[in-house]
Amino acid sequence: MVIIMQTGASEAEVEAVIKAVEKAGFRPFVNPGVERKVIALLGAVDAEKAELADHFSALPGVERVTLISEPYKLASRRTHPEPSVVQVGPVAIGSPQLAVIAGPCSVESREQMLEAAMAVKKAGANLLRGGAFKPRTSPYSFQGLGVAGLEILAEARELTGLPVVTEVLHPDDLEAIAAYADVLQIGARNMQNYRLLQDVGQTGKPVVLKRNPGCRVRELLMASEYIMLEGNLNVILCERGITTFEDATRYTMDLNAIPVIKRLSHLPVIADPSHATGDWRYVTAVALGAIAAGADGIMVEVHPEPANALSDGPQSLEPERFAQLTEALARVAAAVGREMRPAA
Ligand code: PEP
Ligand code: MN
Repeated sequence: MVIIMQTGASEAEVEAVIKAVEKAGFRPFVNPGVERKVIALLGAVDAEKAELADHFSALPGVERVTLISEPYKLASRRTHPEPSVVQVGPVAIGSPQLAVIAGPCSVESREQMLEAAMAVKKAGANLLRGGAFKPRTSPYSFQGLGVAGLEILAEARELTGLPVVTEVLHPDDLEAIAAYADVLQIGARNMQNYRLLQDVGQTGKPVVLKRNPGCRVRELLMASEYIMLEGNLNVILCERGITTFEDATRYTMDLNAIPVIKRLSHLPVIADPSHATGDWRYVTAVALGAIAAGADGIMVEVHPEPANALSDGPQSLEPERFAQLTEALARVAAAVGREMRPAA
């Protein structure tokens, strides 16, 4: 259930509604809308729903009370009719400005990371990616540099001015990662690791939540709910390809998911064409398609020498090719009313 306040409702009226919600035994969650405040009631609402709705509707400053039938409440468009904007340094994700997140799959060395960082910045990326803790399918594969990788990422940020996005695999590493990163990435494999989601929620840091390739959109939205329920509304959803019968590509980019999520939720959505396709030759086409479909940004793997990459080389773009991608992206962005703006 959500209580929508009138435009211009006073602080005192909002406070009184919050008190009434608490008194009825619910946890109030106030969404700071630009136009009007919306108060969500969290917790099971049972039989006396209609009665409760009448009770809250009658309070001063309340415009109306709506029942949210979706199981995700905080992520729902009904709780927050305007699109949410997640601010990361100079980048407003979810606004007309596109998020262009680029960098290597893994931080492999200082030299590799700094070279990649400078190249993507030059090509117009406004956020930097690089994994220090890597979720690999095989335990025999490179697992990332860990904290040493975080230090390199911090140096790359210093050098380029680009905010850093990096993955958290385990709650034990969270404190160290949060001390370095600007955005915490929850990888596809951890999308339903609910304890981890709660922990990243508590940091209050922006989170990129990647869709698990075997999960439905509604499961992704439920996962985002775990983060937001901790009071962290800075969630960016990421479509990164799903498992289908098609094996010509690593996964299948679910372009449908982009307008679907936009309709169901107010959260920003980005697309990762690198993991979706698994092949650098398709990355640009799919990136352009995602922006045309309404995505708020892209996350792309770029490596100075893809052939020697320690992870995801076949899907990584050479810097030159990434520059071609951003050039094409600027044209598509303009055609759909979006813009590409460098971070600094
Ligand atoms: C990554 O971004 O490098 C990654 C591991 O992605 P995903 O979790 O989508 O597989
Ligand atoms: Mn990768």
